[in-house]
Amino acid sequence: MTRMQRLNHRPTQSHQEVIILMPDDKHLSRRQLIKSAGVGAIAATLAACQPAGSGGPGYQRPYSRKPWVAPRVSMGNVIREIVGHRPYRPSGFVVKSESFDDKVVVHNYGHGGGGISLSWGSSALAVRETLGMTPGRVAVIGGGVMGLTSARLLQDAGWEATIYTRDMARHTTSNVAGGEWGPYSVHDPEVSTPEFKAQIQFAARIAHHAFTNLGGPDYGVRWTELYTLSETPPEEGGEFADLYPFRVDLQPGEHPFPAPYVRHELTMMVEPATFLRRITEDFLQAGGRFVIRNFNNKEEILALPEPVMFNCTGLGAASLFDDEELTPAKGQLVYLPPDPDVDYLTIGGGNSNLYMFSRTDTVLLGGTFKLGDYSRNPEPEETERIVSEHQRIFSGF
Ligand SMILES: Cc1cc2nc3c(=O)[nH]c(=O)nc-3n(C[C@H](O)[C@H](O)[C@H](O)COP(=O)(O)OP(=O)(O)OC[C@H]3O[C@@H](n4cnc5c(N)ncnc54)[C@H](O)[C@@H]3O)c2cc1C
Repeated sequence: MTRMQRLNHRPTQSHQEVIILMPDDKHLSRRQLIKSAGVGAIAATLAACQPAGSGGPGYQRPYSRKPWVAPRVSMGNVIREIVGHRPYRPSGFVVKSESFDDKVVVHNYGHGGGGISLSWGSSALAVRETLGMTPGRVAVIGGGVMGLTSARLLQDAGWEATIYTRDMARHTTSNVAGGEWGPYSVHDPEVSTPEFKAQIQFAARIAHHAFTNLGGPDYGVRWTELYTLSETPPEEGGEFADLYPFRVDLQPGEHPFPAPYVRHELTMMVEPATFLRRITEDFLQAGGRFVIRNFNNKEEILALPEPVMFNCTGLGAASLFDDEELTPAKGQLVYLPPDPDVDYLTIGGGNSNLYMFSRTDTVLLGGTFKLGDYSRNPEPEETERIVSEHQRIFSGF
């Protein structure tokens, strides 16, 4: 099952029973307490039991030794709303080379909601297409995460790379990404071929390995806890199960979330702004150069002087290379101020693909995946929905 399918499960909040651990080790549910004591006594008991800011008495985080702290989710705390368009193809991303007279174009685009996660892996597969060629001048079209990682790997292989791009990285979809390491929402498993399913496994593993080598503030990569909330028991195993350490399935009563099933695991957070800035610097230090240019069609690209070119134009490939399958999946994100006390991420828990990612620059709330929607405006009702659904998720803390 993909994470997208997992997210489509709708947790109910009706049957959550919060267990309170008493000093003599007796378990009392919140409901039992309410039956057996007056309201004032209950309040006093709860206050005495509950450390400030904790996820509640009796809850033990599986990995961290700190208590759970809820993000401050409110409309009054919203600092920014942004929109991005995931370059989505139901059959999956494209890595292949194509010859046009004396030019070779290596395509590397269409990574849907997992392009940050897959970047080093997909780009490694793309650079593999140059095996047997003598390294020389290469043009990389596009300065998002795919263009930058392709260009860096080409440089390492001895190529002299120029990135031609309409936008520098900070103005791309790549900079909008939430940044959790998860190669999900990339393809529709009902549509994609077994060959593609093998390819994404390969790319995911190369990329995962590369990111584990870049941990730390320089590249904005770190390990963190992820809680996935679902209505039904999560599946055993799964496509990328071995890439998520410390997996524990929590039962109702073992966590403060309003979902019957909660899976805990560790994942990597790649902070897009930091990561993209750092690999841009690496590219320049290795002798790379940028040319700001908007291409109106494929012929303008093929007229470039370089004999080999990498097409890393994301959604731009739809019109540049006539890819009718490529479609936007609009995502809207709501930024709250950063909160270092919130040291985990959540996915799921509401009526859509909700997520809360705590980063150094923001506490980010998401939950929009609108296929075919090119509109660039943040929708106020979408912001209100994302905020109110997250308020509910953290109401039991
Ligand atoms: C809301 C949201 C949340 C996401 N969350 C995550 C996440 O948590 N984890 C994850 O792994 N991924 C996530 N993604 C997906 C990820 O952002 C994309 O898969 C990835 O950014 C695609 O990278 P790219 O380099 O192919 O495309 P882009 O970043 O779009 O870069 C394309 C480049 O091509 C250039 N270009 C395009 N057309 C032309 C033209 N005609 N002429 C010249 N230049 C051109 C652009 O200027 C740009 O530089 C998310 C995306 C969104 C929108």
